[in-house]
Amino acid sequence: MKTIGVLTSGGDAPGMNAAIRAVVRNGIYNNCKVYGIEQGYEGLINARLKEMTLSSVADIIHRGGTFLRTARSEEFRTENGLKKAKNVLDVFGIEGLVVIGGDGSIAGAQRLNENGITAIGVPGTIDNDLEYTDHSIGFDTAINTVVEAISKIRDTSSSHGRVNIVEVMGRHCGDIALYCGLAGGAESIILPEIPNSVDSVCQKIIRGKNRGKLHSLILMAEGAGSAVEIAKEIEEKTSMETRATILGHIQRGGNPTAFDRILASKLGAKAVDLILEGKKGLTVGMKCNEIVAIEIEKALAMKKKLDMETYDLAGILSI
Ligand code: ATP
Repeated sequence: MKTIGVLTSGGDAPGMNAAIRAVVRNGIYNNCKVYGIEQGYEGLINARLKEMTLSSVADIIHRGGTFLRTARSEEFRTENGLKKAKNVLDVFGIEGLVVIGGDGSIAGAQRLNENGITAIGVPGTIDNDLEYTDHSIGFDTAINTVVEAISKIRDTSSSHGRVNIVEVMGRHCGDIALYCGLAGGAESIILPEIPNSVDSVCQKIIRGKNRGKLHSLILMAEGAGSAVEIAKEIEEKTSMETRATILGHIQRGGNPTAFDRILASKLGAKAVDLILEGKKGLTVGMKCNEIVAIEIEKALAMKKKLDMETYDLAGILSI
């Protein structure tokens, strides 16, 4: 019988619970003892772990957040923190660890691998900033949340004839803004990856106004600047009343979509399969609808590319 562990780390993302459930259930199905580690690497260092049963993960597939909770841990980055983590894994006889989180968390898993511990990464972040996988767990739910919010903003924006600029999450990655811009019919999308001057956004607003458009919606990624500042500049340059909405943490919550639940279930189960096959140093993902497992080092070295086809299409459809 193998003993495995699972933790969630970094920012939470809807679907993490479904991934934990898949790890626990597939582990138990394969006669493993499974430990759930609370609060990411911080909990690992402090031995906050408990043995999971089938019912530990009952009734969580549909819930947002992560019932194991999550954290960021500065101590884990230190030699001493790593040593403590290794000791805990040793004491509990954990032979393989599944780490569900973003690029930082997966880099942490690689550090464990380099130090003789089998750790497999599962991408869980709403940012979708990992090039090696088409989707990370939580992204689909986040974009659906944003699109719903945009529809509401559109209603009030058109009633008042305003420009509304909506700032969304994603850190340095523009995927949330890009896909929500297309799905929400935004006039302009401001992304960190593409230099897009406020003047060109203003030109588009003025062109729209001149042909009778009553309002404008602009999607902006947080990594591209401040929506409040840009709203001021747009108002000055177009003489149109402009409001900024920063959607914030609402994007990280909510029940995961069916897509995220399915993705999380497949990736969580695959991570366990890999541990049972004796694989290490890998992270799982989905490329062109296929579940893939690639070396963490390679995965993290890939530079995230913006989907230019989608960007160009959004531009064409919002002329
Ligand atoms: P999100 O994308 O939601 O921000 P993340 O996993 O990228 O999630 P980070 O804060 O970057 O979030 O990382 C989470 C934790 O992983 C850190 O607090 C730290 O403990 C660990 N970690 C991050 N980078 C490394 C690294 N290079 N080496 C070892 N551990 C790391």
